[in-house]
Amino acid sequence: MAKGWFGEFGGRYVPETLVPALGELEHEYLRLRKDSAFRSRLHYYNTQFGGRPTPLYFAARLTEYAGGARIYLKREDLLHGGAHKFNNVMGQALLASMMGKRRIIAETGAGQHGVATAIAGAALGLTTEIYMGRKDTERQRLNLVRMELLGAKVHTVVSGSMTLKDAINEALRDWVTNVRDTYYLLGSAVGPHPYPAMVRDFQSIIGREIRSQILKSEGRLPDMVVACVGGGSNAIGAFSPFIRHREVALLGAQAGGLGLDSGRHSAPLLAGEPGVLHGARSMLLQDGDGQVKETSSISAGLDYPSVGPQHSHLQKTGRARYVAVTDDQAMESFRLLSRLEGIIPALESAHAVHAAVEEARRMPRESIVVVNLSGRGDKDVDTAASYRGGGR
Ligand SMILES: *Cc1c(COP(=O)(O)O)cnc(C)c1O
Repeated sequence: MAKGWFGEFGGRYVPETLVPALGELEHEYLRLRKDSAFRSRLHYYNTQFGGRPTPLYFAARLTEYAGGARIYLKREDLLHGGAHKFNNVMGQALLASMMGKRRIIAETGAGQHGVATAIAGAALGLTTEIYMGRKDTERQRLNLVRMELLGAKVHTVVSGSMTLKDAINEALRDWVTNVRDTYYLLGSAVGPHPYPAMVRDFQSIIGREIRSQILKSEGRLPDMVVACVGGGSNAIGAFSPFIRHREVALLGAQAGGLGLDSGRHSAPLLAGEPGVLHGARSMLLQDGDGQVKETSSISAGLDYPSVGPQHSHLQKTGRARYVAVTDDQAMESFRLLSRLEGIIPALESAHAVHAAVEEARRMPRESIVVVNLSGRGDKDVDTAASYRGGGR
C-alpha cells in the first residue's frame, strides 16, 4: 500500500507550511520506534506509570445475561487517567521529548485528551499548552481545572463556534508558527500521515495484550473483538494485531445518537461519504455542498464527523464491520454493566458493550467475544443521573 494510504483513504491534505514538519515527524518516528532507548523508556512509563498490562477480565454475569458467547472485558478503564488515551499521549510525548521538542500542544473537545496530554507532559517535564473552545471550557469545567492542576496552560478559543473544530484550527496555527520547538500531539488515529499509523501503533499494545492474555486463558484467539469508534484509536489498537487473522471478526460501534434516521448522530461509517477533513480522506458526514454536518452523541468522545482512515478501509474491504448504537442503547448498557459487573464504563465504551451483547447472544456458548472497555465512567455519572431517554 502506498505510504500514508489505506486503500483510497488517508493521505496528507495540509497547507504547504506543514509538509516539512510532517516529514520530520515521520522520519523521527520511523527512526525512534526501532530505537532501544525509546522502546525501553516507553515500556517503563507504560508499566510503572500507566499500570500496564491491563487485565482481560471474564465477565461472568454479563455472559450469563447475554446467554451466548463468553464475554471478556479488556480493562483499559484501569489505565492511568482512566482511559486508553494514555497509550497514545505517552508514546507521542516521549517521541516529542526525544525529538528535542520542549513544548507540546494539543486540542481538546470535552477535555479528555487535554487531561491525558497534561498528564504525559507533566511526567516528562514538557511545557504543555491545550486549545479548548470556550463553550467546551464552560461545559467541562472539571477537566479545565484538572489540566491546570497538572501544570498545563489552557487557551480558551473564542473564534467560530467555540468548540473542537475551532480549537483544532488554533492549534494548527500555533504549530505552523512554532514548529521548530513545538510538537503537535493529536488525540486519535486521524489527521494527516503519519498520525493515523503512529497512533495505531501506540494503541496496538491493547490488541497485543488481548492476544497473549486470551491465548493464556482460553488457549486460542477470540472469535470477535468489539470496540467503540470515535476517531477510532482504541478500536484500531484493539483490532490491529488481529487483522491478519481472518477468523477473528472485528466489530466497531459508532455513535448512533438519536438514531440514523434522525440525522442526529456521529456515524460517518454508516451514513457518510468519502471526503477530506483535518488532513485526511476518510468517511465523512457532509451535506450535498460538501459542508461538514453537525454531529450528535451522548458521549463526547464519539462526537466527531469523520473517522480514522484505516477504519474506512477496513470497512470498504469487508475486513471489519461497523454498527450504530443509539444514545438510549448506550445508556442501557452503561447501567447494565454497572449493575451486573460492578464496573461503571465510560459512555463511549458502553456503545461497544451494547454491540458485543447483541452479537454474543446469537453466538454459540463456546465462542469468545472480547470487548475493549476504553475508559471508566466517573465522568459520565451526572449525564446518567439526569438522562430521560430519547436524547433529552
Ligand atoms: C476519547 C475516547 C474514546 C474515543 O476515541 P477513539 O479515538 O475512537 O478511541 C472512546 N472511549 C473513551 C473512554 C475515550 O475517552
